[in-house]
Amino acid sequence: MADQTSVVLRGGTVLTLDAQHRVLPRADVLVTGDRIAAVGEALAVPEGTREIDASDGIVMPGMIDTHRHMWQTAMRGYGADWTLTQYFVWYYLESGKHFRPQDVRAGNLLAAAEAIDAGVTTCVDWSHGLQTVGHAEAAVDALRSLPGRYVLAYGNIQQGPWEWSTSADFQAFGRRMLDDERLGFQMAFDVTGDPTFPEKAAYEVARELGVPVTTHAGVWGATNDDGVRLAHEAGFINESHIFVHAASLSADSYHRIAASGASVSVSTESEQSAGQGYPPTWALRAHNIPVSLSMDTSVWWSGDLFSAMRTTLGADRSREHFEAHQKGETITHCSLRAEHVVDWATRGGAEALGRSADLGSLEPGKKADVVLIKNEASPVSFPLLNPYGHVAFQAQRGDVHTVLVDGRVVKEDHKLVGVDLGAIRREVEATVEYLRGTLGEEDWLKGMNPDVPATKVLDNPYTYTDYASGATHGG
Ligand SMILES: [Zn+2]
Repeated sequence: MADQTSVVLRGGTVLTLDAQHRVLPRADVLVTGDRIAAVGEALAVPEGTREIDASDGIVMPGMIDTHRHMWQTAMRGYGADWTLTQYFVWYYLESGKHFRPQDVRAGNLLAAAEAIDAGVTTCVDWSHGLQTVGHAEAAVDALRSLPGRYVLAYGNIQQGPWEWSTSADFQAFGRRMLDDERLGFQMAFDVTGDPTFPEKAAYEVARELGVPVTTHAGVWGATNDDGVRLAHEAGFINESHIFVHAASLSADSYHRIAASGASVSVSTESEQSAGQGYPPTWALRAHNIPVSLSMDTSVWWSGDLFSAMRTTLGADRSREHFEAHQKGETITHCSLRAEHVVDWATRGGAEALGRSADLGSLEPGKKADVVLIKNEASPVSFPLLNPYGHVAFQAQRGDVHTVLVDGRVVKEDHKLVGVDLGAIRREVEATVEYLRGTLGEEDWLKGMNPDVPATKVLDNPYTYTDYASGATHGG
């Protein structure tokens, strides 16, 4: 063991996220090689162990995002004012086909750097821009060149899933990915609800390869209960199946998902503004469906799970209050706690990915994916009274001080380690320049600035009152 490097994070408030959710004040986390060796107070450590001062900070497991279209990060912020309709038109119908392998690579590089920087140590790359296996190779190449743990969820919005999944090219690529130790592999496609269930062919390929499937489900106007029912009746839903959004579904679909042991990846920021349906955690809780969190795409939103935790708490509580007010009732105690969303951002993701044996909590023997939240320069860093509440409502990506993946320090003292951001910037700029040139200036600007519908200002009875004279005009 002497040749293995050891790192100890000293004296932090440790959120173990173990089965008992133990919170340890002033505890140490010792990492040896790629594993957590010990968690406890005043740990004795091997000689030469690197010490990181975690005092006044929070030490927690690396966060896990179960649905992120990493290739779209090259278009960061472009679609801030989009609805889902505008997103579909831009990516699915008009401009998505222009993305070359190097553009997918550029997006993935930036997304990977963004994830690690925010303490997201595992990310499902919901990569549905893979028009060719060449695009997929470029996506994988990017994921391999940066630290972090990734699952490539292979998809292609330019073809039906029954087309791309049955090609010899894809299947050969899929088999190669199964031998990859570091990168996970899934298949990503949507089930439209067409009664002939053409997606069955893709599910059969996934079953043959032995890989999990993830689908956007319960997306208003796109996928509905029929898709869930068809896949369930055909026996394709199991514990490894991740439904994304699941926002506009009936109780029947939730029952089918729950009974199959599948989970739902909730992207609250996305559901709130794109229009898939109300963020569903309030319904998922009632149906006892496992939840993980995700942020969907940086073409609209930020790539960190602090926002996901915060908006999810807000949306769930809004719904609970709103439903009660409709009945003239008052909610006096919140059902969803800060602790729950921190669990979903860590353990929940590990469980969804079938990785709870080695990811999602800080326990001896588990993989050392660790985040230290600490920012001495920030007035928001103290007092640290309620650690789960601090993570969910106070902290943000700038407070991520140190990140370890697989026992390696990949961010330290607020700076990424071994990531050449300048080189990534040049690749992203080349992609932006190419796309802007290909679309032409007019379409580029039109895509970013959708028309604003006229707001109908309501008739206001009080505007007829003349306050100066106290008289009311007849109206
Ligand atoms: Zn998505």
